[in-house]
Amino acid sequence: MKFFAADKPGRRRMAVALVASIVAAAVLQLSPSPTPRKSVPAPPVTIAAPARLADSMNRRVDTMRRGETVVELLQRGGLSPSETGHLLAAAKGLDARRLRAGMSVILRAHPNDSIPSEVVFNLSEDRTLYLTRSTLGWASEEKLIAWQKDTVVVSGTIRSSLYAAMDSARGALLSRPARSELAWTLADVYEYRIDMSRELRDGDKFKVLFELSTAPGGLVRVGEVLAARFEFSRAQVEAIRYEKSGGRAEFFDQNGKSLRMAFLRAPLAFRRISSVFGMRRHPVLGVRRAHKGTDYAASSGTPIRTVGEGTVIFSGRKGGYGNAVEVRHRNGYVTRYGHMRGFATGIRRGSHVGIGQTIGYVGMTGLASGPHLHFEVLVNGAQRDPRRALASKAGLPIPVSERAKFDQLRTAYIEMLDADVEVVALR
Ligand SMILES: [Zn+2]
Repeated sequence: MKFFAADKPGRRRMAVALVASIVAAAVLQLSPSPTPRKSVPAPPVTIAAPARLADSMNRRVDTMRRGETVVELLQRGGLSPSETGHLLAAAKGLDARRLRAGMSVILRAHPNDSIPSEVVFNLSEDRTLYLTRSTLGWASEEKLIAWQKDTVVVSGTIRSSLYAAMDSARGALLSRPARSELAWTLADVYEYRIDMSRELRDGDKFKVLFELSTAPGGLVRVGEVLAARFEFSRAQVEAIRYEKSGGRAEFFDQNGKSLRMAFLRAPLAFRRISSVFGMRRHPVLGVRRAHKGTDYAASSGTPIRTVGEGTVIFSGRKGGYGNAVEVRHRNGYVTRYGHMRGFATGIRRGSHVGIGQTIGYVGMTGLASGPHLHFEVLVNGAQRDPRRALASKAGLPIPVSERAKFDQLRTAYIEMLDADVEVVALR
């Protein structure tokens, strides 16, 4: 724990202290033994109270419309053109060009006054600008909204899917959108190692340590994943977030090898898959035939990404594949993507594509009964099971000079992941 205090004082140290009480807040126990719950009062959240006027005031909440200017918004709220001018002149830190459609504005007026005396711009999740009118004119004050940042551990066992595991795991703690967000984030962390949509097995287990921010109003935001451990049927893969000196934060496994590889494991971001590699009944031809590839069910228009860097060697109509793209990679592998609705801009024979680049969109051109992506990996011209062909060996290691620092961080994270403490309700 010393590491944190020395490296990132303040917030991080607080997070470590907090985690001692809330770690395992949502340990998923599928076994019937319920873990005792104990409520711990949440630490007080500090937000500077705005210079609020009497609560007897009339309050109106408005939203900035698409294509609207702030002047139009304020005038709709009852401010005259000259009053609007005075307000905007006083509004320090308000960049009218940066205001986005959807921003909410609160206007408050005294019951006998048609002109608002207080205008609140909710600039972002973190910033609010208060403008108040007195006999001296308008005055502005910007408030930062303090999100409470916690570090939380969630663990789960796969039964049908990662989503389902999250649903059980997070029942008490996270909203449904936050649970989905966490599942997506976790799938992103492991996207070079496993295709979460089809390679998970019943009984696989995960633990994830991540930052969770809570706004005073109760809004919850899933932040960075700091560490995770997946126990697949054959292997255990840790993911430790680490920032190499002079580099961006990246995930490394327990051996200090980067989780980044030459290939992504799936051509679509984490989605449900409709069939697996092998023999199956072809939905259109109505006959059994070898289905040399993988079908990913996804809604029409879902972006398709190339699983590796390479050169486009085919882009166009190709029989039953419909609109298809083929990419040749450096190791000689070719990946093929079929049934596309259309191609991404600039994708044509000879184009260079980076890993993860969007090359087109899911559709149902060619022999397809519904929108899906047909994906193949070809090695020396023959189709191979992508699960094997794209299986990665190991990524680049942490530089030797940083290994000790990494190991220290890993030890601290693993300790947090495995901390065996009382289960508490976060809120
Ligand atoms: Zn197919």
